[in-house]
Amino acid sequence: MGELPLSSLWIIQEQGGSPRPRFFGSLAEPSRDHSGKAPERLLTMAELVLIYPPVALPSEPPLGMATVAGFLKRAGVPFHVMDLNVETFERLLSADCPGPEPVDRFSRRALAKLGKSLEQVRSSCILSEPQRYRSAISHIQRALYLRTEGTGAPRFTLRDFIHPCLSPLCSAELRRMALERSMGHVGRWMEQRVIQSVMSVGARCVGFSLQYLSQALPAMALCGAIKEAAPNVRVVMGGALVTSWERIGRLPDLRPWVDQLIPGHDLSPLAMILGLDPESLKGDPPLPELQGFPWRAYLSPRRMAPMFTSLGCYWGRCKFCPEAGRAESFRSIPAREVPRRMEQIMRETGAHYIHVTDNAIPPKTLEALAGSRLEIPWFGFARFEPMLSRAGVARGLRGSGCRMLQLGLESGSQRVLERLGKGIKLEVVSRILSSLHQEGIATYVYVLLGTPGETLEDARKTMEFVADNAASIDYLHCSIMNLPRAVTAPRDVQIMEFPGKQSQDLSLYVDFRACEGMDRKTARRFLEREFSREPTIAQILRKDPPAFTSAHAALFSGARDGKLGQTG
Ligand code: SF4
Repeated sequence: MGELPLSSLWIIQEQGGSPRPRFFGSLAEPSRDHSGKAPERLLTMAELVLIYPPVALPSEPPLGMATVAGFLKRAGVPFHVMDLNVETFERLLSADCPGPEPVDRFSRRALAKLGKSLEQVRSSCILSEPQRYRSAISHIQRALYLRTEGTGAPRFTLRDFIHPCLSPLCSAELRRMALERSMGHVGRWMEQRVIQSVMSVGARCVGFSLQYLSQALPAMALCGAIKEAAPNVRVVMGGALVTSWERIGRLPDLRPWVDQLIPGHDLSPLAMILGLDPESLKGDPPLPELQGFPWRAYLSPRRMAPMFTSLGCYWGRCKFCPEAGRAESFRSIPAREVPRRMEQIMRETGAHYIHVTDNAIPPKTLEALAGSRLEIPWFGFARFEPMLSRAGVARGLRGSGCRMLQLGLESGSQRVLERLGKGIKLEVVSRILSSLHQEGIATYVYVLLGTPGETLEDARKTMEFVADNAASIDYLHCSIMNLPRAVTAPRDVQIMEFPGKQSQDLSLYVDFRACEGMDRKTARRFLEREFSREPTIAQILRKDPPAFTSAHAALFSGARDGKLGQTG
Protein backbone atom coordinates (compact mmCIF):
# COMPACT_ATOMS: atom_id res chain seq x y z
CA MET A 1 0.00 0.00 0.00
CA GLY A 2 1.30 3.47 -0.84
CA GLU A 3 1.82 6.25 1.62
CA LEU A 4 -1.26 7.88 3.08
CA PRO A 5 -1.58 11.51 1.95
CA LEU A 6 -0.84 14.10 4.61
CA SER A 7 -3.74 16.03 5.97
CA SER A 8 -4.15 18.52 3.19
CA LEU A 9 -6.24 21.51 3.98
CA TRP A 10 -6.27 24.89 2.41
CA ILE A 11 -8.44 27.84 2.89
CA ILE A 12 -10.87 28.46 0.08
CA GLN A 13 -12.61 31.43 1.55
CA GLU A 14 -12.69 33.28 4.80
CA GLN A 15 -15.50 35.48 6.05
CA GLY A 16 -14.48 38.36 8.27
CA GLY A 17 -16.36 39.76 11.24
CA SER A 18 -17.25 36.46 12.88
CA PRO A 19 -16.32 35.56 16.47
CA ARG A 20 -14.10 32.68 15.26
CA PRO A 21 -12.43 32.08 11.90
CA ARG A 22 -14.86 30.51 9.44
CA PHE A 23 -13.56 28.35 6.66
CA PHE A 24 -15.21 26.77 3.70
CA GLY A 25 -12.94 24.41 1.96
CA SER A 26 -11.87 21.08 0.74
CA LEU A 27 -9.98 18.19 2.22
CA ALA A 28 -8.72 17.14 -1.20
CA GLU A 29 -5.06 16.94 -2.08
CA PRO A 30 -4.07 20.45 -3.27
CA SER A 31 -3.01 20.67 -6.91
CA ARG A 32 0.50 21.92 -7.56
CA ASP A 33 0.92 25.26 -9.28
CA HIS A 34 2.96 25.79 -12.46
CA SER A 35 6.19 26.11 -10.44
CA GLY A 36 5.58 22.65 -8.97
CA LYS A 37 5.00 24.00 -5.46
CA ALA A 38 1.96 22.94 -3.50
CA PRO A 39 -0.12 25.86 -2.21
CA GLU A 40 0.30 26.91 1.40
CA ARG A 41 -1.35 24.44 3.75
CA LEU A 42 -3.23 25.80 6.69
CA LEU A 43 -4.86 23.72 9.37
CA THR A 44 -8.42 24.91 9.71
CA MET A 45 -11.21 23.91 12.04
CA ALA A 46 -14.62 22.88 10.80
CA GLU A 47 -17.94 22.04 12.42
CA LEU A 48 -18.81 19.61 9.69
CA VAL A 49 -17.08 17.45 7.09
CA LEU A 50 -19.24 16.57 4.07
CA ILE A 51 -18.22 13.33 2.33
CA TYR A 52 -19.26 11.97 -1.07
CA PRO A 53 -18.42 8.25 -0.82
CA PRO A 54 -17.63 5.90 -3.71
CA VAL A 55 -18.96 4.57 -6.06
CA ALA A 56 -20.46 7.08 -8.48
CA LEU A 57 -19.39 8.12 -11.96
CA PRO A 58 -16.32 10.37 -11.39
CA SER A 59 -17.01 12.88 -14.18
CA GLU A 60 -17.92 16.06 -12.25
CA PRO A 61 -18.27 17.35 -8.68
CA PRO A 62 -21.35 16.03 -6.83
CA LEU A 63 -24.14 18.61 -7.06
CA GLY A 64 -26.16 17.50 -4.00
CA MET A 65 -23.19 17.96 -1.68
CA ALA A 66 -22.16 21.23 -3.38
CA THR A 67 -25.68 22.56 -2.80
CA VAL A 68 -25.58 21.67 0.91
CA ALA A 69 -22.18 23.40 0.97
CA GLY A 70 -23.83 26.48 -0.60
CA PHE A 71 -26.44 26.57 2.19
CA LEU A 72 -23.74 26.18 4.89
CA LYS A 73 -21.61 28.90 3.36
CA ARG A 74 -24.57 31.29 3.25
CA ALA A 75 -25.29 30.53 6.93
CA GLY A 76 -21.62 31.10 7.87
CA VAL A 77 -21.03 27.53 9.12
CA PRO A 78 -17.40 26.31 8.92
CA PHE A 79 -17.25 23.08 6.88
CA HIS A 80 -15.04 21.04 4.57
CA VAL A 81 -15.98 19.00 1.52
CA MET A 82 -14.35 15.72 0.53
CA ASP A 83 -15.13 14.03 -2.78
CA LEU A 84 -13.87 10.66 -1.58
CA ASN A 85 -15.38 9.07 -4.68
CA VAL A 86 -13.01 10.72 -7.14
CA GLU A 87 -10.11 10.45 -4.66
CA THR A 88 -10.66 6.68 -4.42
CA PHE A 89 -10.62 6.35 -8.20
CA GLU A 90 -7.37 8.34 -8.24
CA ARG A 91 -5.95 5.96 -5.67
CA LEU A 92 -7.07 2.82 -7.53
CA LEU A 93 -5.72 4.14 -10.82
CA SER A 94 -2.42 5.45 -9.44
CA ALA A 95 0.89 3.84 -10.40
CA ASP A 96 1.58 2.60 -6.84
CA CYS A 97 -1.81 0.98 -6.18
CA PRO A 98 -1.36 -2.68 -5.22
CA GLY A 99 -2.65 -5.38 -7.54
CA PRO A 100 -1.77 -8.82 -8.89
CA GLU A 101 0.74 -9.29 -11.71
CA PRO A 102 -1.32 -9.32 -14.91
CA VAL A 103 -1.24 -12.71 -16.62
CA ASP A 104 -3.18 -12.14 -19.83
CA ARG A 105 -2.20 -9.88 -22.73
CA PHE A 106 -5.11 -7.44 -22.41
CA SER A 107 -4.43 -6.88 -18.68
CA ARG A 108 -0.71 -6.27 -19.31
CA ARG A 109 -1.57 -3.83 -22.07
CA ALA A 110 -4.23 -2.06 -19.95
CA LEU A 111 -1.79 -1.51 -17.07
CA ALA A 112 1.07 -0.49 -19.34
CA LYS A 113 -1.13 2.13 -21.00
CA LEU A 114 -3.07 3.20 -17.90
CA GLY A 115 -1.27 6.52 -17.38
CA LYS A 116 -1.72 7.44 -21.04
CA SER A 117 -5.38 6.36 -21.00
CA LEU A 118 -6.13 8.59 -18.00
CA GLU A 119 -4.39 11.49 -19.69
CA GLN A 120 -6.43 10.92 -22.85
CA VAL A 121 -9.79 10.76 -21.06
CA ARG A 122 -8.95 14.11 -19.44
CA SER A 123 -7.99 15.75 -22.74
CA SER A 124 -10.30 17.40 -25.29
CA CYS A 125 -8.16 15.92 -28.13
CA ILE A 126 -9.80 12.53 -27.50
CA LEU A 127 -13.19 13.92 -28.58
CA SER A 128 -12.22 13.66 -32.24
CA GLU A 129 -11.04 10.05 -31.78
CA PRO A 130 -13.97 7.95 -30.49
CA GLN A 131 -12.11 4.68 -31.08
CA ARG A 132 -9.16 5.77 -28.96
CA TYR A 133 -11.60 6.97 -26.29
CA ARG A 134 -13.23 3.51 -26.20
CA SER A 135 -9.92 1.80 -25.80
CA ALA A 136 -8.82 4.21 -23.02
CA ILE A 137 -12.05 3.50 -21.11
CA SER A 138 -11.58 -0.27 -21.51
CA HIS A 139 -8.02 0.01 -20.08
CA ILE A 140 -9.33 1.98 -17.08
CA GLN A 141 -12.11 -0.55 -16.46
CA ARG A 142 -9.62 -3.42 -16.65
CA ALA A 143 -7.25 -1.75 -14.18
CA LEU A 144 -10.15 -1.22 -11.76
CA TYR A 145 -11.07 -4.89 -12.04
CA LEU A 146 -7.48 -6.06 -11.45
CA ARG A 147 -6.99 -3.79 -8.42
CA THR A 148 -10.27 -4.60 -6.70
CA GLU A 149 -11.86 -7.96 -7.52
CA GLY A 150 -8.47 -9.16 -8.79
CA THR A 151 -7.08 -8.76 -5.24
CA GLY A 152 -10.02 -10.60 -3.64
CA ALA A 153 -11.72 -7.30 -2.63
CA PRO A 154 -15.22 -6.14 -3.65
CA ARG A 155 -15.36 -4.93 -7.24
CA PHE A 156 -15.29 -1.28 -8.32
CA THR A 157 -16.35 -0.32 -11.83
CA LEU A 158 -16.64 3.26 -13.06
CA ARG A 159 -20.26 3.36 -11.91
CA ASP A 160 -20.87 0.43 -9.58
CA PHE A 161 -19.73 -1.35 -6.44
CA ILE A 162 -20.28 -5.11 -6.21
CA HIS A 163 -19.71 -6.92 -2.93
CA PRO A 164 -19.48 -10.73 -3.15
CA CYS A 165 -21.67 -11.32 -0.04
CA LEU A 166 -23.46 -8.11 0.99
CA SER A 167 -26.33 -6.29 -0.73
CA PRO A 168 -27.18 -2.59 -0.35
CA LEU A 169 -30.85 -3.58 -0.69
CA CYS A 170 -30.89 -5.23 2.71
CA SER A 171 -30.73 -3.07 5.88
CA ALA A 172 -29.27 -5.94 7.95
CA GLU A 173 -26.41 -6.23 5.45
CA LEU A 174 -25.75 -2.48 5.57
CA ARG A 175 -25.39 -2.76 9.35
CA ARG A 176 -23.16 -5.82 8.91
CA MET A 177 -20.88 -3.82 6.62
CA ALA A 178 -20.40 -1.19 9.37
CA LEU A 179 -19.22 -3.98 11.67
CA GLU A 180 -17.02 -6.05 9.36
CA ARG A 181 -15.81 -3.28 6.96
CA SER A 182 -14.88 -5.86 4.31
CA MET A 183 -13.65 -3.43 1.65
CA GLY A 184 -10.14 -4.81 1.01
CA HIS A 185 -7.00 -2.70 0.70
CA VAL A 186 -8.76 0.32 -0.78
CA GLY A 187 -11.23 0.27 2.13
CA ARG A 188 -8.37 0.53 4.61
CA TRP A 189 -6.95 3.45 2.64
CA MET A 190 -10.36 5.19 2.59
CA GLU A 191 -10.81 4.71 6.34
CA GLN A 192 -7.42 6.23 7.16
CA ARG A 193 -8.05 9.13 4.80
CA VAL A 194 -11.42 9.93 6.40
CA ILE A 195 -10.39 9.44 10.05
CA GLN A 196 -7.26 11.53 9.66
CA SER A 197 -9.19 14.33 7.95
CA VAL A 198 -12.09 14.38 10.42
CA MET A 199 -9.72 14.41 13.42
CA SER A 200 -7.40 17.04 11.98
CA VAL A 201 -10.17 19.63 11.58
CA GLY A 202 -11.85 18.75 14.89
CA ALA A 203 -15.21 18.14 13.20
CA ARG A 204 -18.22 17.55 15.46
CA CYS A 205 -20.27 16.09 12.67
CA VAL A 206 -19.74 14.10 9.45
CA GLY A 207 -22.39 14.22 6.72
CA PHE A 208 -22.51 11.58 3.98
CA SER A 209 -24.23 12.46 0.71
CA LEU A 210 -25.68 9.33 -0.93
CA GLN A 211 -27.12 9.65 -4.42
CA TYR A 212 -26.79 6.07 -5.63
CA LEU A 213 -27.23 2.56 -4.26
CA SER A 214 -23.61 1.87 -5.21
CA GLN A 215 -22.50 4.29 -2.46
CA ALA A 216 -24.42 2.67 0.41
CA LEU A 217 -22.09 -0.20 1.41
CA PRO A 218 -18.81 1.81 1.17
CA ALA A 219 -20.47 4.61 3.19
CA MET A 220 -21.49 2.15 5.92
CA ALA A 221 -17.94 0.79 6.17
CA LEU A 222 -16.73 4.38 6.71
CA CYS A 223 -19.45 5.04 9.32
CA GLY A 224 -18.24 1.97 11.23
CA ALA A 225 -14.65 3.25 11.12
CA ILE A 226 -15.63 6.77 12.28
CA LYS A 227 -17.68 5.50 15.22
CA GLU A 228 -14.83 3.23 16.31
CA ALA A 229 -12.18 5.98 16.13
CA ALA A 230 -14.30 8.95 17.24
CA PRO A 231 -17.52 7.79 18.96
CA ASN A 232 -18.56 11.35 19.85
CA VAL A 233 -18.60 12.57 16.25
CA ARG A 234 -22.21 12.72 15.00
CA VAL A 235 -22.76 10.92 11.69
CA VAL A 236 -25.66 11.90 9.41
CA MET A 237 -26.70 10.76 5.93
CA GLY A 238 -28.74 12.55 3.29
CA GLY A 239 -29.17 12.62 -0.48
CA ALA A 240 -31.39 11.07 -3.15
CA LEU A 241 -30.97 7.50 -1.89
CA VAL A 242 -32.08 8.42 1.64
CA THR A 243 -35.04 10.33 0.13
CA SER A 244 -35.98 7.21 -1.87
CA TRP A 245 -35.90 5.09 1.31
CA GLU A 246 -38.29 7.56 2.93
CA ARG A 247 -40.62 7.56 -0.10
CA ILE A 248 -41.07 3.79 0.13
CA GLY A 249 -41.70 4.17 3.88
CA ARG A 250 -38.62 2.12 4.79
CA LEU A 251 -36.04 4.45 6.34
CA PRO A 252 -33.66 1.90 7.88
CA ASP A 253 -32.43 2.06 11.46
CA LEU A 254 -28.66 2.32 10.97
CA ARG A 255 -27.80 3.22 14.56
CA PRO A 256 -25.33 3.21 16.26
CA TRP A 257 -23.27 3.94 13.12
CA VAL A 258 -25.54 6.59 11.64
CA ASP A 259 -27.10 8.96 14.16
CA GLN A 260 -29.64 10.50 11.82
CA LEU A 261 -30.97 10.10 8.28
CA ILE A 262 -32.02 13.38 6.63
CA PRO A 263 -34.30 12.71 3.63
CA GLY A 264 -35.58 15.39 1.24
CA HIS A 265 -34.43 18.97 0.73
CA ASP A 266 -35.14 20.26 4.25
CA LEU A 267 -31.82 20.80 6.02
CA SER A 268 -33.30 21.97 9.33
CA PRO A 269 -32.43 18.63 11.08
CA LEU A 270 -28.79 19.27 10.13
CA ALA A 271 -29.05 22.85 11.44
CA MET A 272 -30.32 21.53 14.79
CA ILE A 273 -27.48 18.99 15.08
CA LEU A 274 -25.05 21.86 14.52
CA GLY A 275 -26.82 23.93 17.21
CA LEU A 276 -28.15 26.46 14.69
CA ASP A 277 -31.54 28.06 14.21
CA PRO A 278 -33.45 25.55 11.97
CA GLU A 279 -34.38 28.47 9.69
CA SER A 280 -30.71 29.21 8.97
CA LEU A 281 -30.41 26.42 6.35
CA LYS A 282 -33.73 27.21 4.64
CA GLY A 283 -34.72 29.62 1.88
CA ASP A 284 -34.13 29.83 -1.86
CA PRO A 285 -31.47 27.40 -3.07
CA PRO A 286 -28.08 29.14 -3.22
CA LEU A 287 -25.53 28.66 -5.98
CA PRO A 288 -23.75 25.32 -5.53
CA GLU A 289 -20.42 25.83 -3.75
CA LEU A 290 -18.10 24.24 -6.33
CA GLN A 291 -14.77 25.77 -5.46
CA GLY A 292 -13.46 23.22 -2.97
CA PHE A 293 -13.43 20.22 -5.31
CA PRO A 294 -10.38 18.54 -6.92
CA TRP A 295 -11.28 19.61 -10.46
CA ARG A 296 -8.25 18.07 -12.15
CA ALA A 297 -9.07 14.62 -10.84
CA TYR A 298 -12.39 14.18 -12.67
CA LEU A 299 -12.44 11.85 -15.65
CA SER A 300 -13.81 14.12 -18.33
CA PRO A 301 -12.38 15.52 -21.58
CA ARG A 302 -13.89 18.92 -20.66
CA ARG A 303 -14.44 20.47 -17.25
CA MET A 304 -18.15 20.11 -16.42
CA ALA A 305 -19.94 22.04 -13.68
CA PRO A 306 -23.31 20.71 -12.51
CA MET A 307 -26.27 22.92 -11.58
CA PHE A 308 -30.03 22.62 -11.28
CA THR A 309 -32.72 25.08 -12.31
CA SER A 310 -35.52 23.14 -10.60
CA LEU A 311 -36.07 20.42 -8.00
CA GLY A 312 -38.76 17.76 -8.49
CA CYS A 313 -40.73 17.74 -11.75
CA TYR A 314 -43.13 20.45 -12.97
CA TRP A 315 -45.06 17.88 -15.04
CA GLY A 316 -45.36 15.17 -12.40
CA ARG A 317 -48.07 13.22 -14.25
CA CYS A 318 -46.25 10.20 -15.68
CA LYS A 319 -47.96 7.23 -14.05
CA PHE A 320 -45.00 5.05 -13.14
CA CYS A 321 -42.56 7.76 -12.09
CA PRO A 322 -41.67 8.42 -8.42
CA GLU A 323 -42.00 12.18 -9.16
CA ALA A 324 -45.69 11.78 -10.08
CA GLY A 325 -48.18 13.50 -7.77
CA ARG A 326 -45.52 15.54 -5.96
CA ALA A 327 -46.38 18.93 -7.45
CA GLU A 328 -46.33 20.50 -3.97
CA SER A 329 -42.61 19.77 -3.58
CA PHE A 330 -41.62 21.24 -6.99
CA ARG A 331 -39.32 24.27 -6.70
CA SER A 332 -37.57 26.26 -9.40
CA ILE A 333 -35.14 29.12 -9.72
CA PRO A 334 -36.81 32.13 -11.43
CA ALA A 335 -36.30 31.61 -15.18
CA ARG A 336 -34.72 35.04 -15.78
CA GLU A 337 -32.09 34.29 -13.12
CA VAL A 338 -30.87 31.04 -14.74
CA PRO A 339 -28.60 32.59 -17.44
CA ARG A 340 -26.97 34.81 -14.78
CA ARG A 341 -26.34 31.77 -12.55
CA MET A 342 -24.79 29.88 -15.46
CA GLU A 343 -22.43 32.78 -16.15
CA GLN A 344 -21.44 33.00 -12.49
CA ILE A 345 -20.72 29.25 -12.24
CA MET A 346 -18.59 29.36 -15.40
CA ARG A 347 -16.65 32.34 -14.04
CA GLU A 348 -16.07 30.81 -10.62
CA THR A 349 -15.11 27.31 -11.75
CA GLY A 350 -13.43 27.81 -15.13
CA ALA A 351 -15.71 25.04 -16.45
CA HIS A 352 -16.20 24.46 -20.18
CA TYR A 353 -19.68 22.95 -19.90
CA ILE A 354 -22.69 23.23 -17.62
CA HIS A 355 -24.57 20.03 -16.88
CA VAL A 356 -28.16 20.91 -15.94
CA THR A 357 -29.37 18.03 -13.76
CA ASP A 358 -33.14 18.81 -13.63
CA ASN A 359 -35.60 15.95 -14.13
CA ALA A 360 -37.03 18.21 -16.84
CA ILE A 361 -36.02 21.84 -17.43
CA PRO A 362 -39.23 23.92 -17.11
CA PRO A 363 -40.53 25.50 -20.38
CA LYS A 364 -40.20 29.05 -18.97
CA THR A 365 -36.53 28.40 -18.27
CA LEU A 366 -36.03 27.00 -21.79
CA GLU A 367 -37.66 30.17 -23.16
CA ALA A 368 -35.43 32.40 -21.04
CA LEU A 369 -32.36 30.51 -22.24
CA ALA A 370 -33.53 30.63 -25.88
CA GLY A 371 -33.68 34.42 -25.65
CA SER A 372 -30.37 34.82 -23.81
CA ARG A 373 -27.60 34.43 -26.45
CA LEU A 374 -25.45 33.14 -23.61
CA GLU A 375 -23.10 30.98 -25.68
CA ILE A 376 -22.24 28.83 -22.68
CA PRO A 377 -22.12 25.13 -23.68
CA TRP A 378 -24.73 23.22 -21.65
CA PHE A 379 -26.88 20.09 -21.77
CA GLY A 380 -29.71 18.56 -19.76
CA PHE A 381 -33.13 16.88 -19.69
CA ALA A 382 -36.28 18.40 -21.22
CA ARG A 383 -39.76 17.07 -21.97
CA PHE A 384 -41.01 16.95 -25.54
CA GLU A 385 -42.84 20.26 -24.96
CA PRO A 386 -44.67 21.63 -28.04
CA MET A 387 -42.82 24.96 -27.49
CA LEU A 388 -39.62 23.21 -28.62
CA SER A 389 -41.10 22.84 -32.12
CA ARG A 390 -41.97 26.57 -32.40
CA ALA A 391 -40.05 28.53 -35.03
CA GLY A 392 -36.83 29.98 -33.65
CA VAL A 393 -36.83 28.18 -30.26
CA ALA A 394 -34.28 25.51 -31.23
CA ARG A 395 -32.12 28.20 -32.86
CA GLY A 396 -32.37 30.34 -29.72
CA LEU A 397 -31.40 27.40 -27.52
CA ARG A 398 -28.44 26.68 -29.72
CA GLY A 399 -27.47 30.36 -29.40
CA SER A 400 -27.62 29.99 -25.62
CA GLY A 401 -25.01 27.23 -25.94
CA CYS A 402 -27.27 24.16 -25.74
CA ARG A 403 -25.27 21.22 -27.13
CA MET A 404 -27.57 18.34 -26.25
CA LEU A 405 -31.07 17.70 -24.88
CA GLN A 406 -31.93 14.44 -23.14
CA LEU A 407 -35.53 13.55 -23.95
CA GLY A 408 -37.74 10.79 -22.50
CA LEU A 409 -39.72 9.30 -25.38
CA GLU A 410 -40.39 5.96 -23.64
CA SER A 411 -42.64 4.60 -26.41
CA GLY A 412 -43.43 5.03 -30.11
CA SER A 413 -46.99 3.81 -29.54
CA GLN A 414 -49.46 6.65 -28.91
CA ARG A 415 -51.66 4.21 -26.98
CA VAL A 416 -48.82 3.46 -24.52
CA LEU A 417 -47.94 7.16 -24.19
CA GLU A 418 -51.56 7.93 -23.22
CA ARG A 419 -51.55 5.09 -20.72
CA LEU A 420 -48.29 6.35 -19.19
CA GLY A 421 -49.64 9.92 -18.90
CA LYS A 422 -46.64 11.30 -20.82
CA GLY A 423 -48.73 14.11 -22.36
CA ILE A 424 -46.86 14.02 -25.70
CA LYS A 425 -47.97 13.46 -29.31
CA LEU A 426 -45.75 11.48 -31.65
CA GLU A 427 -46.13 13.94 -34.55
CA VAL A 428 -44.89 16.74 -32.24
CA VAL A 429 -42.00 14.53 -31.10
CA SER A 430 -40.88 14.06 -34.73
CA ARG A 431 -41.00 17.82 -35.37
CA ILE A 432 -39.01 18.58 -32.20
CA LEU A 433 -36.32 15.99 -32.97
CA SER A 434 -35.97 17.32 -36.48
CA SER A 435 -35.71 21.01 -35.52
CA LEU A 436 -33.24 20.36 -32.68
CA HIS A 437 -31.07 18.24 -34.94
CA GLN A 438 -31.19 20.81 -37.76
CA GLU A 439 -29.96 23.53 -35.39
CA GLY A 440 -27.03 21.39 -34.21
CA ILE A 441 -28.45 20.34 -30.83
CA ALA A 442 -27.74 16.65 -30.27
CA THR A 443 -30.70 14.54 -29.14
CA TYR A 444 -30.25 11.81 -26.50
CA VAL A 445 -33.48 9.82 -26.52
CA TYR A 446 -34.66 7.39 -23.82
CA VAL A 447 -36.86 4.40 -24.67
CA LEU A 448 -38.54 2.24 -22.02
CA LEU A 449 -39.84 -1.21 -22.90
CA GLY A 450 -42.02 -3.52 -20.82
CA THR A 451 -44.24 -0.87 -19.23
CA PRO A 452 -47.43 -2.37 -17.73
CA GLY A 453 -49.91 -3.16 -20.52
CA GLU A 454 -47.43 -2.72 -23.41
CA THR A 455 -47.92 -5.39 -26.08
CA LEU A 456 -45.36 -6.76 -28.52
CA GLU A 457 -47.19 -4.81 -31.23
CA ASP A 458 -46.67 -1.56 -29.24
CA ALA A 459 -42.98 -2.38 -28.85
CA ARG A 460 -42.66 -2.90 -32.62
CA LYS A 461 -44.29 0.51 -33.18
CA THR A 462 -41.56 1.99 -30.96
CA MET A 463 -38.91 0.29 -33.07
CA GLU A 464 -40.51 1.68 -36.25
CA PHE A 465 -40.79 5.19 -34.80
CA VAL A 466 -37.13 5.25 -33.75
CA ALA A 467 -35.98 3.88 -37.11
CA ASP A 468 -38.14 6.43 -38.99
CA ASN A 469 -36.65 9.30 -36.96
CA ALA A 470 -33.11 7.89 -36.81
CA ALA A 471 -31.68 10.78 -38.83
CA SER A 472 -32.60 13.17 -35.98
CA ILE A 473 -31.60 10.91 -33.07
CA ASP A 474 -27.94 11.16 -32.07
CA TYR A 475 -27.93 8.88 -29.04
CA LEU A 476 -30.34 6.28 -27.74
CA HIS A 477 -30.73 4.65 -24.35
CA CYS A 478 -33.08 1.66 -24.06
CA SER A 479 -34.09 -0.09 -20.87
CA ILE A 480 -36.65 -2.47 -19.42
CA MET A 481 -39.06 -0.96 -16.95
CA ASN A 482 -38.44 -1.37 -13.24
CA LEU A 483 -41.64 -0.49 -11.40
CA PRO A 484 -40.80 1.84 -8.49
CA ARG A 485 -42.20 0.67 -5.15
CA ALA A 486 -43.05 4.32 -4.41
CA VAL A 487 -45.77 4.61 -7.11
CA THR A 488 -49.44 3.71 -6.77
CA ALA A 489 -50.12 1.07 -9.41
CA PRO A 490 -53.45 1.04 -11.29
CA ARG A 491 -56.01 -1.64 -10.36
CA ASP A 492 -55.23 -3.83 -13.39
CA VAL A 493 -51.57 -4.16 -12.36
CA GLN A 494 -50.75 -6.77 -9.73
CA ILE A 495 -47.72 -5.93 -7.56
CA MET A 496 -45.44 -8.56 -5.98
CA GLU A 497 -41.92 -8.98 -4.62
CA PHE A 498 -39.26 -10.31 -7.00
CA PRO A 499 -39.04 -14.10 -6.51
CA GLY A 500 -36.31 -15.05 -4.02
CA LYS A 501 -35.66 -11.40 -3.03
CA GLN A 502 -38.09 -11.09 -0.10
CA SER A 503 -35.27 -10.30 2.36
CA GLN A 504 -34.34 -7.16 0.40
CA ASP A 505 -36.32 -4.72 2.52
CA LEU A 506 -34.72 -1.65 0.86
CA SER A 507 -35.43 -2.69 -2.73
CA LEU A 508 -36.78 0.40 -4.52
CA TYR A 509 -38.57 -1.67 -7.17
CA VAL A 510 -41.24 -4.37 -7.28
CA ASP A 511 -42.21 -7.06 -9.74
CA PHE A 512 -45.60 -6.75 -11.45
CA ARG A 513 -48.08 -8.57 -13.64
CA ALA A 514 -50.49 -6.65 -15.88
CA CYS A 515 -53.79 -8.00 -17.29
CA GLU A 516 -52.50 -7.51 -20.83
CA GLY A 517 -49.14 -7.00 -22.51
CA MET A 518 -45.67 -8.52 -22.40
CA ASP A 519 -43.92 -9.75 -19.29
CA ARG A 520 -40.39 -8.49 -18.54
CA LYS A 521 -38.77 -11.58 -20.05
CA THR A 522 -40.53 -11.09 -23.40
CA ALA A 523 -39.67 -7.37 -23.35
CA ARG A 524 -36.00 -8.16 -22.71
CA ARG A 525 -35.91 -10.74 -25.49
CA PHE A 526 -37.49 -8.23 -27.89
CA LEU A 527 -34.95 -5.57 -26.88
CA GLU A 528 -31.97 -7.89 -27.37
CA ARG A 529 -33.07 -9.84 -30.44
CA GLU A 530 -35.11 -7.37 -32.47
CA PHE A 531 -34.89 -3.77 -31.34
CA SER A 532 -31.13 -3.54 -30.79
CA ARG A 533 -30.41 -5.43 -34.03
CA GLU A 534 -32.43 -3.15 -36.30
CA PRO A 535 -29.60 -1.75 -38.48
CA THR A 536 -30.27 2.02 -38.06
CA ILE A 537 -30.93 1.58 -34.33
CA ALA A 538 -27.81 -0.55 -33.87
CA GLN A 539 -25.78 2.21 -35.50
CA ILE A 540 -27.10 4.83 -33.04
CA LEU A 541 -26.55 2.53 -30.04
CA ARG A 542 -22.90 2.03 -30.98
CA LYS A 543 -22.24 5.78 -30.64
CA ASP A 544 -23.05 5.90 -26.91
CA PRO A 545 -19.81 6.58 -24.96
CA PRO A 546 -19.03 3.45 -22.88
CA ALA A 547 -19.48 3.73 -19.09
CA PHE A 548 -19.95 7.53 -19.14
CA THR A 549 -22.89 7.49 -21.64
CA SER A 550 -24.81 10.81 -21.56
CA ALA A 551 -22.23 12.44 -19.24
CA HIS A 552 -19.73 12.50 -22.13
CA ALA A 553 -22.10 12.32 -25.14
CA ALA A 554 -22.70 16.09 -25.15
CA LEU A 555 -18.94 16.69 -25.28
CA PHE A 556 -18.58 14.53 -28.40
CA SER A 557 -21.44 16.46 -30.03
CA GLY A 558 -19.75 19.77 -29.14
CA ALA A 559 -16.50 18.49 -30.66
CA ARG A 560 -18.16 17.39 -33.91
CA ASP A 561 -19.22 20.92 -34.77
CA GLY A 562 -15.79 22.24 -33.89
CA LYS A 563 -16.93 24.13 -30.80
CA LEU A 564 -15.44 22.58 -27.72
CA GLY A 565 -16.63 25.27 -25.37
CA GLN A 566 -15.85 28.89 -24.72
CA THR A 567 -12.32 28.29 -23.61
CA GLY A 568 -11.78 25.19 -25.72
S1 SF4 B 1 -41.43 14.11 -17.02
FE1 SF4 B 1 -39.92 12.65 -16.24
S2 SF4 B 1 -39.59 13.21 -14.09
FE2 SF4 B 1 -41.47 14.22 -14.77
S3 SF4 B 1 -43.12 12.84 -14.15
FE3 SF4 B 1 -42.58 12.33 -16.27
S4 SF4 B 1 -41.01 10.70 -16.14
FE4 SF4 B 1 -41.21 11.68 -14.11
